[in-house]
Amino acid sequence: MASFREESKKSHFIIVPLPAQGHLIPMTDMGCLLAERGVSVSLLITQANADRIKPIIERAKESKLSIQFVELSFPNEKFGLPQGCESVDHITDWGLFRAFFDAVYSFNEPLETFIENLERPPDCMITDMCNAWTAPVARKFGIPRVIFHGPSCFYISTDYNLAHNKVYDSVTDENEHVTVPNFPIKLQVTKAQTPGFFIGPTLADFRKKSLEEELTADGVVINTFLELERPFIENYERLIGKKVWTVGPFCLYNKDDKMKVGRGNKDAIVHRHRVLIWLDGRDAASVLYISFGSTTYTNSQQIMEVGKGLEALNKPFIWVMKKREMTPVVEKWLADSFEERTKDRGLIIVGWAPQVVILSHPAVGAFMTHCGWNSLLEAISTGVPMITWPRNSDQFVNENLIVDVLRIGISLGVKLPDFDTEDVIMVKSEEIRKAVNALMDGIEADERRQRSKDFSKKAQKAVEEGGSSYVNLADFIHYFTDQRNKLANENSISA
Ligand code: UDP
Repeated sequence: MASFREESKKSHFIIVPLPAQGHLIPMTDMGCLLAERGVSVSLLITQANADRIKPIIERAKESKLSIQFVELSFPNEKFGLPQGCESVDHITDWGLFRAFFDAVYSFNEPLETFIENLERPPDCMITDMCNAWTAPVARKFGIPRVIFHGPSCFYISTDYNLAHNKVYDSVTDENEHVTVPNFPIKLQVTKAQTPGFFIGPTLADFRKKSLEEELTADGVVINTFLELERPFIENYERLIGKKVWTVGPFCLYNKDDKMKVGRGNKDAIVHRHRVLIWLDGRDAASVLYISFGSTTYTNSQQIMEVGKGLEALNKPFIWVMKKREMTPVVEKWLADSFEERTKDRGLIIVGWAPQVVILSHPAVGAFMTHCGWNSLLEAISTGVPMITWPRNSDQFVNENLIVDVLRIGISLGVKLPDFDTEDVIMVKSEEIRKAVNALMDGIEADERRQRSKDFSKKAQKAVEEGGSSYVNLADFIHYFTDQRNKLANENSISA
């Protein structure tokens, strides 16, 4: 083990994730990775979120990784939030979003206390784009601050261009198509399809602050890789005028099965064994995997419509459903008919699935996804083509990248966002049947699968020693370590 003297010589980076699965998962990966590459890391996390990723925290301890998980208590009571509501996926009532982000913004005090108690300020603060509240803290202590962007660069660049050119200021119909300015390709979007991360007027000030503080950051790290979306990365780098380090896909750094299965939520561990046995008995690339991320909700009528499509398909499938989607209607439908009729070829997981373990299995041949960036990148990394069904946030724009630019997916044709709408059927069973068949069978399907495999190889290469993301991460670490050394030299000269 390194001596204290050696430890104290190390660079110290502090990571401040947004408490949302799609943000916390990649930032935890990044923390472990930085620690593996010799940085001493402190990652701020709240108690309920720490409990979810306990196996990862324990694994990090066992392997003596120099990462500490700094546990903070979430101020639920103060902000009128139910006990245990510590992550975006815990919010089931739209009215609570404001209070949730107000609570997140109040973490500036414990963060300041944490920094004040350190021997010296950290060398770098990596903070989620949505955590604009960290900017004044970083300024107060003179800590360089880097933004972590959760989505694709294709989306980040789109959003940047739309926002800074005020494109929507003159749009009256939110379904009117507009062309994204200063973009490497002709891309048309609608206001409705690009709601961004802070949706609605009650959260508009958070979005404004995020955009403002993006401009004051000392650099940007993104969970993507150069060989996947180079023109859009270069576009964003040119626009923002700062160093942009693409260092992903993070999911590929989880070589250890224990890390892979415990990613995001320890609940997945209970499913691992039965899922692997079930998949081992299937032909290569024959299984359709269906999952819509951590926050997206599918209503009961739509769930049964998806089920109809799956019955018509007669293909093996793994379908992940959320606990809150288990309404009495759905439970009855599953127990009375669907499970019995598909028992020879269907596996339903209620709760948190070990997604990367599933996607990595050779039996999986297609992924029906809501187009969250982590899910897309996980499918790209494992070479699985996709059926795209965007719901909100960055997902419609991500879909465009997958279907039209990279050509590794087929769209279900959904054009409007879905914010937990009850009883509305956005996608008919027949559309599901057609899209899955087109994705899995025929010459075009083979070509698409081949393209997916090629991107997977490029992704693996990017994170290997000498690969683009590997090198970028080294550069990122050196950049902030050198800054500290320079500063220390200047101080010793002036003294
Ligand atoms: N995830 C998982 N099991 C589940 C649901 C989600 O492991 O049952 C993980 C998934 O692998 C991904 C993340 O949760 O890493 C979801 O992030 P994404 O950006 O895809 O969507 P979001 O949840 O942010 O909408």
